[in-house]
Amino acid sequence: MERRINGHTGLLALFGTPVGHSGSPAMYNFSFQHDGLDYAYMAFDVNVEQMPAVFDSIRLFNMRGGNFTMPCKNIAAELVDKLSPAAEIIGACNVFVNDAGVITGHITDGVGFVKNLEVNGVDVKGKKTVVLGAGGAATAIQVQLALDGASEVAIFNIDDEFYSRAESTKEKLAARCPECKVTVEHLEDKEALAAAVNNADIVINATIMGMKPHEDVTLIDKSLFRKDLVVADTVYNPEKTKMILEAEEVGCQAIGGKGMLLYQGVVNYSLFTGKDFPIEEYQKFQA
Ligand code: NAD
Repeated sequence: MERRINGHTGLLALFGTPVGHSGSPAMYNFSFQHDGLDYAYMAFDVNVEQMPAVFDSIRLFNMRGGNFTMPCKNIAAELVDKLSPAAEIIGACNVFVNDAGVITGHITDGVGFVKNLEVNGVDVKGKKTVVLGAGGAATAIQVQLALDGASEVAIFNIDDEFYSRAESTKEKLAARCPECKVTVEHLEDKEALAAAVNNADIVINATIMGMKPHEDVTLIDKSLFRKDLVVADTVYNPEKTKMILEAEEVGCQAIGGKGMLLYQGVVNYSLFTGKDFPIEEYQKFQA
């Protein structure tokens, strides 16, 4: 690895806090080395107040690109030169690419989610969807579903601080993607949820429920599952949530959250390098 880095090596990095646990440096450095690309990827622990200085550094060091994580995704969207359509609607970005001094911010959680459905043979175009949640992952997915041509996005969230974000997403999508019908209802309204699931092609959990330590919880009663329903989870720990296991028992196509994580990286890699991420080799490297 050290021999690979020279006086011309281009820098990419993750910014946010905490970043020490991140798998991104290992993932991207493995791929740069595999593809013989003269780049190195680091992680820097920075807070929101330091972000203007981060952008000065990105420009000063002519960094090729990188990622932003919590709590820096929103401020990053204010500091980039341009935003992708999804990042503009959401007002946050988790990826930046520097093309000859012009820094573009992207948000790829939703793109990675939709790509993972696609590789599992599920096309969202024209589909009726139910999305549980209104936090970061849920909002990115809702926006991407609408941008990619889903016909309906029925958002359900509990009555907490995220609920108003769902209403704001609905308003923004009404302006940007008027052909997609977006509704917002309370997750506590079991009748409305049952009606929406009965009407849907794809049901998605993008809340923290199902994730450790809530692994015994599922938000959709198994009796609502039917064989022609696609059930997808964003949660990847555990790899198969209670919801995914119950969907499999009924015979639904059930898609866990691990692929979303992988495909975000795949999408980011192609934004940074213009190349396809070496998926099989990386999976062997991880094993
Ligand atoms: P967030 O904190 O932004 O949002 C949390 C969401 O959970 C909100 O909608 C909130 O209302 C909901 N929630 C909280 N307590 C609840 C309860 N008791 N019942 C029902 N809903 C409840 O979180 P986030 O960053 O959007 O993450 C949400 C999920 O998405 C997590 O499980 C995370 O693991 C997953 N995620 C997966 C990937 C991936 O690549 N697979 C990427 C990002 C996030």
